[in-house]
Amino acid sequence: MAIDFGKRLGFGALRLPVFDPNNQQGIDYETLTKMIDIFMEQGFSYYDTSYIYHGGLSEDALGKALVDRYPRDSFLLSTKMPIKFMKKKEDMETIFEEQLKKCHVDYFDFYLIHSIGKETYDSCKEWDTFEFLKQKRAEGKFKEFGVSLHDSPEFLDLILTEHPEIDFVVEQLNYIDWMNPAIRSKEIYEVAVKHNKPIVVMEACKGGTLAEIPDEAKKLMTDYNPDASIASWAYRFVGSLPGVRVVLAGMPKMEFLMDNIKTFENFTPLNADEYKIIDQVVEIINSNSAIPCTVCRYCETECPKSIAIPDYFALYNDLKRLEKSSSENEVMTQAFYYGNFLEQGRGAASACIECKKCQKVCPQNLDIIDYLKENVVPVIENYNPMAKIESHY
Ligand code: SF4
Ligand code: SF4
Repeated sequence: MAIDFGKRLGFGALRLPVFDPNNQQGIDYETLTKMIDIFMEQGFSYYDTSYIYHGGLSEDALGKALVDRYPRDSFLLSTKMPIKFMKKKEDMETIFEEQLKKCHVDYFDFYLIHSIGKETYDSCKEWDTFEFLKQKRAEGKFKEFGVSLHDSPEFLDLILTEHPEIDFVVEQLNYIDWMNPAIRSKEIYEVAVKHNKPIVVMEACKGGTLAEIPDEAKKLMTDYNPDASIASWAYRFVGSLPGVRVVLAGMPKMEFLMDNIKTFENFTPLNADEYKIIDQVVEIINSNSAIPCTVCRYCETECPKSIAIPDYFALYNDLKRLEKSSSENEVMTQAFYYGNFLEQGRGAASACIECKKCQKVCPQNLDIIDYLKENVVPVIENYNPMAKIESHY
């Protein structure tokens, strides 16, 4: 089928319906099948999966519930190369073929390098991954090639400059991360736009946390528009941005699917009043943060260990918000960002030598040492996303 992004909601198979949220492999196929039927009936067609989602069963779930039941040219299928899990060059071919089988297809519409970062980019160079993918595309095994990332705008700029053959970018984009110093969504968005790359948005509702905001913030939204769900504001924020091709939404429940369809079937961009409300909501959410850091960054320049103090606090605040309403998947995604700081040479939270230089300059009088030791180290630094992922295999 011609690539038509008229209806820009994507069915995110990171979060499919399951019987028990603690068992991501227990997919509820009956509900999933019904949801896919509704999605297709309403004229939506974009599906996003990956090798690792749902303990390795997400691709197969779409193979059964979608591919086996609909003509191949009636939907668009996107999946991702799990470069982090590959041990050697030959794994690219083996896993690519395995993915085609798992998805029950002989070609993908979109194929991505999953969560590209400094370390994975080094593997890509060593294994000639970009050449491998160019070859696969030339063979008709997929149509467009993208990257998903949880890294910095500088890194995105580097790979888009070195590899102009990348067709599109999948990035974490939502109104609370837009100016988040640890995630820098706005700057990443601007890099993609500068390189003329269409953007596919992930985490628009930040793992569901932007549907569960403080009551004071909810009231601002419902007073303005009682008929709109809280989540719809988050989806409309990203859908209103120029250059956004598709907005992915996790679909763990039928009610989420119906609400998302309502938002996107006759999409209305945010107006000026609504942007102002979102600004106020961001302030309320941030003021309810577990660590009330204002990101002035005075402490950072004092630290002899180059600890990215405000960024780690921002990540901690994210994790606390995520814990309230979402699953391991979201916590894991956020934890990747911490690893990025260490890769960039920033000090670990546990490297603090308690010299107190930071605390002397903090205008909020925060007990930075305690927050690092009691909050950041146990919750973020000791969290091991790779162990969590690998435990599925
Ligand atoms: S107390 Fe710790 S975090 Fe603060 S400046 Fe010293 S080493 Fe850095
Ligand atoms: S000085 Fe205090 S408020 Fe400013 S960034 Fe550091 S911890 Fe946050």
